[in-house]
Amino acid sequence: MAIDEEITRTGECRQCGECCRRLGWLLVHADDDTLEWLRARDTEIKVVPDEDVREYYWVSIPYPCTHLVDMGNGVFHCDMHDTKPEICKRYPEPTDDLKPGCGYRFTKG
Ligand code: SF4
Ligand code: SF4
Repeated sequence: MAIDEEITRTGECRQCGECCRRLGWLLVHADDDTLEWLRARDTEIKVVPDEDVREYYWVSIPYPCTHLVDMGNGVFHCDMHDTKPEICKRYPEPTDDLKPGCGYRFTKG
């Protein structure tokens, strides 16, 4: 998906925790703060050239985030919600693969 296409996000978070349980996403133009946070968590980071966006980062964390808290009844919370990284606050973005059951959707236009 080209990043200059008009993409609209609809829906809402269902607090399923799936995006924090299996972390792997496409990250475009990462800032130093984000990369530092990721590397501190033994993150595998690959810089990949792409015809649309010169370079992007494929980020993979091979374990559930330790800040994910099971509240019961299928609801999960982040124990650092107010101070979590921007990358968490912005998820999902159009370049992300939506996790199965995610309450958000992307549409063109
Ligand atoms: S996968 Fe989607 S619905 Fe589930 S916690 Fe993440 S953003 Fe919310
Ligand atoms: S810091 Fe919070 S929002 Fe970010 S991956 Fe961990 S549990 Fe999810």
